[in-house]
Amino acid sequence: MFELVFLGTSASAPSIHRGLPALAVLADEQRFLVDCGEGSQRQILRSGIGFKRLDHIFLTHAHLDHILGLGGLLSTYGRWEALDEIHIWGGLPAIERVQALVYQVIFRREQPPIPIYFNRVLPGKTLYQGRRFSVRAFPVSHRGRECYGYIFEEKARRPFLVEKAEALGLPSGPERGQLVAGQTVVLGDGRAIHPDEVLGEPIRGTKVVITGDLSRTDDIRAAAAGADALVIESTFLDRDADIARQVGHITALQAAELALECDVKFLFSTHISRRYREFEVIREVRKAFPNSYVPRDLDHFAVFRDKPPQKLDIQSRSDDEDDLPEGGE
Ligand SMILES: [Zn+2]
Ligand SMILES: [Zn+2]
Repeated sequence: MFELVFLGTSASAPSIHRGLPALAVLADEQRFLVDCGEGSQRQILRSGIGFKRLDHIFLTHAHLDHILGLGGLLSTYGRWEALDEIHIWGGLPAIERVQALVYQVIFRREQPPIPIYFNRVLPGKTLYQGRRFSVRAFPVSHRGRECYGYIFEEKARRPFLVEKAEALGLPSGPERGQLVAGQTVVLGDGRAIHPDEVLGEPIRGTKVVITGDLSRTDDIRAAAAGADALVIESTFLDRDADIARQVGHITALQAAELALECDVKFLFSTHISRRYREFEVIREVRKAFPNSYVPRDLDHFAVFRDKPPQKLDIQSRSDDEDDLPEGGE
């Protein structure tokens, strides 16, 4: 299970109701940010998730609507010093732009108070390996080089078959855990039991795919395939498909069609342009792909394997705000 907190859902400029792109992904104790548009730090506070452990940031590309919030966020982190270090991933253009912001503007060639590690994304490689899940990137077409989407995916696991274990006379105890971990167990009577004797076929884990901005969808089918949640830009409507093509974006209809082709379980359409009314986007996406939702800022969902996402209430405000330094402008 992953939780998604939509911190900002607007395209290119904020509207009254929508902030610039940022999405928090919560997985166990670890929390990630995908993009960090202007105003993200206040959205993090408003969402109730707080800043703690929010120290891994994945950037989809170098456009300012997706990265400018890092200036404020890193400045706050720098003064607050509650995090030990920050890890930022992205393509080279995104990293270079953020480095210019960090070293020439925010910290002005001084050493940042906490280490900031910049990592250039290499597609296909595992970028982050958690106990239960991993994060990897896939290349997307947009404007400029090295634009990426990200896949958060739980490891497949083999279920423990209790009936088989009992038929083999396996005692309930630590042996079961060892077998689940893939180790052969030798019982008191000398019999060896191999994991294959008591474990079922692998069951895949929950898969969340976040695309960032896109100019086409045909080159990300493999990445999107079978996603339990596909978070995809839907900047334009089909009636403006020509403009979308010219400026390197896709339409809500294209997003829905991709979901349909790729056996996606649920679609979140985001990066919404101010030129449209929200209901127009909802109507276009839902018509082609009913299992879809157009999130508003601060919408919070839990995403599961093979069952619909569950909308969660906004958490009560965290205590983190009280931990922020007083004054210090
Ligand atoms: Zn954008
Ligand atoms: Zn862009």
